[in-house]
Amino acid sequence: MNIGRLDKMAKKEKACKNCKLIYEGVTCPNCDKKDTTDAFKGKVEIVNPEKSEIAKKLKINKKGIYAIRV
Ligand SMILES: [Zn+2]
Repeated sequence: MNIGRLDKMAKKEKACKNCKLIYEGVTCPNCDKKDTTDAFKGKVEIVNPEKSEIAKKLKINKKGIYAIRV
């Protein structure tokens, strides 16, 4: 029995269904919604939303870690 392993699985990442931001907590810091999914596909870190092609495609205008598909 290795209890240490269970700790890692307890924390699940979730992504906002509205703006795709991956965050911890109850409400999305981007859009204030509580509609999340943990079944998102892919992750991308947006550092420079103004210059990033991915950010434009995903309609992201704030930096952060986002899901590619929710
Ligand atoms: Zn959001």
